[in-house]
Amino acid sequence: MSSIQDLGLSETYGAFIDNAFQPVDGPTFAALHSGTGEQIARIARCGAAEVDAAVQAAAKAFPAWRATAPEERSALLLKLAAAVEADQQRLASIDSVDIGRRLFETGLDHQFAISQYRYFAAAAITHEGFGRPIPGGYMVARREPYGVCGQIIPWNVPAIMAAFKIAPAIAAGNTVVLKPDENASLSTLELCRHIAKIFPPGVINIVPGFGEEAGAALTAHPGVAKLAFTGSSEVGRIISRAGAERLVPVSLELGGKSPNIIFPDIEDIDAVVDNAMFATLYCNGQSCLAGTRLFVHDAVYDAVMDRLVAGMERVKVGAALAPDTVLSNLVSPEQGERVMNYIGIGKAEGARLMTGGQRIAVEGQAHGHFIAPTVFEADNHMRIAQEEIFGPVLSVIRWKDHDRMIEEANGVRYGLAAGLYTSNLRNAWDTAERLQAGSVWINHYFNLASGSPFGGFKESGIGSEYCHETLNMYTHLKAVTIQTRVAAPWFAPKA
Ligand code: ADP
Repeated sequence: MSSIQDLGLSETYGAFIDNAFQPVDGPTFAALHSGTGEQIARIARCGAAEVDAAVQAAAKAFPAWRATAPEERSALLLKLAAAVEADQQRLASIDSVDIGRRLFETGLDHQFAISQYRYFAAAAITHEGFGRPIPGGYMVARREPYGVCGQIIPWNVPAIMAAFKIAPAIAAGNTVVLKPDENASLSTLELCRHIAKIFPPGVINIVPGFGEEAGAALTAHPGVAKLAFTGSSEVGRIISRAGAERLVPVSLELGGKSPNIIFPDIEDIDAVVDNAMFATLYCNGQSCLAGTRLFVHDAVYDAVMDRLVAGMERVKVGAALAPDTVLSNLVSPEQGERVMNYIGIGKAEGARLMTGGQRIAVEGQAHGHFIAPTVFEADNHMRIAQEEIFGPVLSVIRWKDHDRMIEEANGVRYGLAAGLYTSNLRNAWDTAERLQAGSVWINHYFNLASGSPFGGFKESGIGSEYCHETLNMYTHLKAVTIQTRVAAPWFAPKA
């Protein structure tokens, strides 16, 4: 896709309700090319009225959708997977322009998304209840969908996030109202064109807009029976409170500050350093999963640090669509400022800057905030090692004592992911067992195999996505007991 004109975008987008984009007659916001700042579309800034219309559409669609055979839901999810696959290059290019990530990455996002639609197409038909005999009858435990699910997603990996939310919810027989992020709505809105051709009206509805407006209206709506959110821990708390107010279940996938641990017995230092760089820089560092605390054993510290600094300095920083780019711009100037502020905090608290730390100008991308890959030698208690930065900034922490390192690796409020590199299986297993993280990747960071549960410990979230268990998160468990006859009077029998 060479130009924005080739992306097939509309000039304006309304809310997507009942399989149709609604006319835009209220306030709108701009979708900007994140590198050049050029306006690429205007999007309806939905509020309570649009959210209400979407929830009503989803509620109306729910009885028929829940009554469909799982095989039918499965077949439609497979159709969606095929449609996204056929349109993958265009959709990935839209994300690259919208959020500033290179095409290689947004293409991978779409492959993940497609695999999610396929995974839950399969899971839908194997999501079984259970039953067992009871005296004089039988007990059946059924899984039943909640109804309308309100889902809110962030901007960093929009295609993955939309798939993570939509696929399991509708596979389980729910209907959906989803709010994309105000920084990255376009690929989800374009996904609607496929949805409209495949699903009955009202099964999947999209309400773009801001968190405090469309998002808050969705979480407060009395017609929403289940909330699911991915984003910051701060907003996760707000969503959680909204769920508590109405006593509806809430699943949350929140922030992270994941440890990535190098043991002294690694065989190929270059390979390990390359993987640790990938763990830091993937998504331009804007991933809740990023391995941003690199614990390096004293025995290999200098060798690792030398290669790490040289490797980071080799990274080509450039425009998202330039073919040789490895690291592109952050999603917005505000995000860039936030990351630069953290770099300042790191310096002020005494962390040693090993490389990077500065903004980089890229020709023709004046709006884009590009930051050189940044490595600090840090202590685990420093703010740059404790707080989620969401940018290309790595804190390297030297360790010697295994127990102390584990304590520090676990010594953050988050517990989303962890990585470790070792050639000793027992060490790998024992360490994995002691790490407080929802995913532990041994010898390959970001090893996200479809079907492996994905969720956080501690303040990183509640619930598991990406796996069969997710269908349980989107369903009630109901027990139905059957007796073959009504028992003879026994409670207050006639004398
Ligand atoms: P990030 O830190 O990744 O930008 P946020 O947690 O700020 O993530 O936002 C994630 C999603 O939550 C976005 O879709 C945003 O619009 C939404 N959001 C933000 N504030 C609220 C709120 N008060 N109520 C509901 N949704 C919100």
